[in-house]
Amino acid sequence: MNLYDLAPADLDRALGEIVSPPFRVKQIEEWLHVRGVDSFDAMTNVSKDVRAELKARFTLAFPEVLTRTVPASDGSQKYLFRLHDGQRIESVYMPIGDRTSICLSSQAGCAVGCTFCVTGFFGPGRNIGPSEMLGQFFTIQHEKQIPAEQMNVVFMGMGEPLLNFENLVTTLDILYRNMSPRRVTVSTSGIIPGIDDLARLEKRPNLAVSINAPDRKRREEIMPITAKYPLEELMASLRRFPLEKGRDLTIEYVLLAGYNDSKSDAVALAKLIRGLHAKVNAIPFNADPNLPEWMKRPNDTAIDRFVDTLVQHNVRVTVRRSKGRDIAAACGQLRHEKAVG
Ligand code: SF4
Repeated sequence: MNLYDLAPADLDRALGEIVSPPFRVKQIEEWLHVRGVDSFDAMTNVSKDVRAELKARFTLAFPEVLTRTVPASDGSQKYLFRLHDGQRIESVYMPIGDRTSICLSSQAGCAVGCTFCVTGFFGPGRNIGPSEMLGQFFTIQHEKQIPAEQMNVVFMGMGEPLLNFENLVTTLDILYRNMSPRRVTVSTSGIIPGIDDLARLEKRPNLAVSINAPDRKRREEIMPITAKYPLEELMASLRRFPLEKGRDLTIEYVLLAGYNDSKSDAVALAKLIRGLHAKVNAIPFNADPNLPEWMKRPNDTAIDRFVDTLVQHNVRVTVRRSKGRDIAAACGQLRHEKAVG
């Protein structure tokens, strides 16, 4: 059993069978959940006998780094990891001013099948466990030596995090030892039962929802999941999602030239999200040879027109000039193992 796969309460119990008093348990948990060590021998304030007992009963494996891209012009860097069964996942390190974001994968593939997304193009993959999500985080944190107070974590890599809910929640609980829930964002394609489950958590991360079209018909064309979770019901789930003071939902909107980027689309989007505490993150599409040829990135004039129209309708909006475009690490460009050489 990999200790990083245990929820904090289960870890307490497992360690309590080996060590006492409780503060010794806390010492070991600190090595794991705060320092993120991947070896029992690194636990220098734990006795040799206890380390031997831990080694005999448990493991501490993280995914192995296969490759790191050369950093892109904006400093971002993509990591390719191999999981214990040979599956591969990707994560992205993104320095942004004096902050750093780490984009994590939650599944080794994705069954949701958004047509603008390379991960979706390559199809489903298994859920990944807490040790595999935390392994991405701690590996990059250690390599880049990022202080915890400067980090943000976004679950926007490969996979739909709300379809791997239990593992996600364990991972969140452990990440919260290092950072506030306000610095963690979970991005979903709109899995309504998962949004409602997230709403019931005592400590909720930020929620980002990929909307991408202002009406059900077009959303279903590019996001087939809409047939199962209709746009109107998705919007209702966002309206009941509890937000503490000062927190916003993020509405993600991939801009496709000539498809969903007109002035009237911006007006319709403003109307759709009226009344929500939300900001829009407009993401100009990133072309990829595996994606439909008709999908194009809008030119700057169209992007500006869309953004200006939202602003005129009192919508807060940022444009994600995607980090890492030149290393194929931008939104929708993380891929399944079959695509990675
Ligand atoms: S955008 Fe997200 S949910 Fe949609 S196919 Fe890609 S990884 Fe899956």
